[in-house]
Amino acid sequence: MKNTLLTLLLFFSLYAKGDDFKAHFINVGQADATLLEFSKGVVMIDAGAENGSLGLSRNSLTNYLGDFYQRRSDLSKTIDILILTHNHYDHYKLILDLSKNYTIKRIITTKFYLEKAKDVVKAAKNEKIKLEFMDYRLMDSLMPKGYEINLANFVNPGTTIPKITLYSGKASVKTGETIGNQSFSKTPFNDPNNHSIVSKLTYGKASMLFTGDLENDGIRYLTAKYQNNLSLFDVDVYHVGHHGAENGTTKEFLDIMTPKIALISAGDTAHRNSGSAWGHGHPRIWTVELLEAQPSMTLQKQAVKVHAYPDEEVTPKIIDVKKEIYCTCWTGNIIMLVDSNGKYTVQ
Ligand SMILES: [Zn+2]
Repeated sequence: MKNTLLTLLLFFSLYAKGDDFKAHFINVGQADATLLEFSKGVVMIDAGAENGSLGLSRNSLTNYLGDFYQRRSDLSKTIDILILTHNHYDHYKLILDLSKNYTIKRIITTKFYLEKAKDVVKAAKNEKIKLEFMDYRLMDSLMPKGYEINLANFVNPGTTIPKITLYSGKASVKTGETIGNQSFSKTPFNDPNNHSIVSKLTYGKASMLFTGDLENDGIRYLTAKYQNNLSLFDVDVYHVGHHGAENGTTKEFLDIMTPKIALISAGDTAHRNSGSAWGHGHPRIWTVELLEAQPSMTLQKQAVKVHAYPDEEVTPKIIDVKKEIYCTCWTGNIIMLVDSNGKYTVQ
């Protein structure tokens, strides 16, 4: 009996064992490029470049992916899914480099501002990739659960199956909108930032949320839209919205997410052009302090000294960070190893 039980336990522990996966937050400067590496497939969220430092961003991504696909030659230089959160330079600009050098099977993006993102249309046309749009009507029809992408083929059979769910607020830019007792004026939704596709990755007990450059109004709209299902946004890892800007994270949303770890993608302090981290003041001290004050965030073994900006176009300040907050602007590329039991190791 004891042996049978042991065998059963062993069987289930083996059966339930998930492959680890890795999230690569690639340092492309003041821009986003995140690669999710599974045992049998790859998802990328954004492929942006720093406005004013295109060459540097391009070199960083090219070198990183060159090394990556050399190591993972079994993946045959394929990006299975590319999600472009929105049509801004710092989120899509390197798509032509990607599409020339790699096979992109699916591109998921938004129509809003697409006319300004000519490289996205060109890459899709050149390589005959169909653009899939998370438009307002589609997202509304998928309420209340969001658009689910099952990643069963991305892992070995018998292991935990990862899933990506996409959400998009997208209030009407013509008239604004009212949901319950909340009203939304049209002006903030003239900005592509507030049309960012929100992606949630779940993998067993592990979960991560990517909000692109969603700003306060977009966050408020998203949570109003999903007000009866806010636990959908309860995650462990938060890819901090809008590069750590003061308008990309709210206390209310942090309380819904209850993250343990936060990661920021932002650029080098030495750059002094308008598209740089200095030009935008990212990450903002205000945001880092908000994350520090969030009770769900995990304490680091020891505090680290990092820089953050009190405002845009001013000298950054050195501050102490005690919680698990990381930034590509502090340490360069960040790799996070994630297992399906919800254990996270930042390398
Ligand atoms: Zn951005």
